Amino acid sequence: MARRKKIYEGKAKILYEGPEPGTIVQYFKDDATAFNAQKKDVIEGKGVLNNRLSEFFMTGLNNIGVPTHFLKRLNMREQLVRACEIIPLEIIVRNFAAGSLAKRLGLEEGTPLPRPIVEYCYKDDKLGDPLVTEEHIAAFGWASQQDMDDILSLALRVNDYLSGLMYGVGIRLVDFKIEIGRVYDGDYQRLIVADEISPDSMRLWDIETGKKLDKDVFRRDLGSLTDAYTEVAQRLGVMPKQATHMAKPKLIN
Ligand code: C5P
Repeated sequence: MARRKKIYEGKAKILYEGPEPGTIVQYFKDDATAFNAQKKDVIEGKGVLNNRLSEFFMTGLNNIGVPTHFLKRLNMREQLVRACEIIPLEIIVRNFAAGSLAKRLGLEEGTPLPRPIVEYCYKDDKLGDPLVTEEHIAAFGWASQQDMDDILSLALRVNDYLSGLMYGVGIRLVDFKIEIGRVYDGDYQRLIVADEISPDSMRLWDIETGKKLDKDVFRRDLGSLTDAYTEVAQRLGVMPKQATHMAKPKLIN
C-alpha cells in the first residue's frame, strides 16, 4: 500500500494529501494543548469527538448556505475537506466576556457584550497569535477590504447559527474562533470556513449551571475533557445519550 503524503502537522490535526486534486484528508489527533502549547496532554477520544462535532457543525453550515471546506467524514478520526489557502488570521467572535477579552478590558467573565464583537489575531505560534487590527491586516496584505467584508459576514452568520443551535440544547455560546480559506473557481476567489469547529475552539457554558463544556476544562483543570465534549455531542444528538464514554478508537491508526 502506498504511503500517503503528509502535508502538515499541527497541534491537534494532521493534514494528508487527499485522493483527488484539490482535496485534503484532515486527521484529528488526541493531543490537547493550551497556552500556546506550554500545557500539553493526550486526551483519549478527543480526536474522535472533534471529528464528529466538526462534521456536524460544518454540515449544518453548508446546509444553510454558509460555505465550508467540509466534504465528508471518512472514518472515526478523518474527514475529507476541500484544499484552500488559509488566510493567516484567527477570527474570534464573542457574545459574552471571557478569557483574554475579560482580562484585557477588566471585565467579569460572563458579562454580556452589547453586541457580538469580532476580533482578529495573526496566526503565528511563535508570536502567540497576537491581536491585530484591520489596519495591520490591510497594511501587511493578509486580506483585502473585500475579504474583510466577507469574513465579517461569514463570522456573524456562523455566530448566529452556532448560538441558536447551542441555545436549543441549553448551552450558551460565549465565544469561538474560526479560520477562513480561499478557494479559486476559475477567475474568481471565494472565502469558505475552514479548519475545524469544535469545543477546542469555543467557549460553551451550560445555561442553567454555568458548567464549562469546552477546552477551558483542560486549560483550567476542571475535570474530564472527554466527558465535557461527550455531553455536548449527546445534547446535540451527535452521539447516543446512553453511551457514557466513547468506545476506545482502536480501529484507526
Ligand atoms: O483566549 P481567548 O479568550 O482570546 O479565546 C477566545 C476564543 O477563541 C475561545 O473560544 C478560544 O477557545 C478560541 N481560540 C482558539 N485558538 C486560539 C485562540 C483562541 O480556538 N489560538
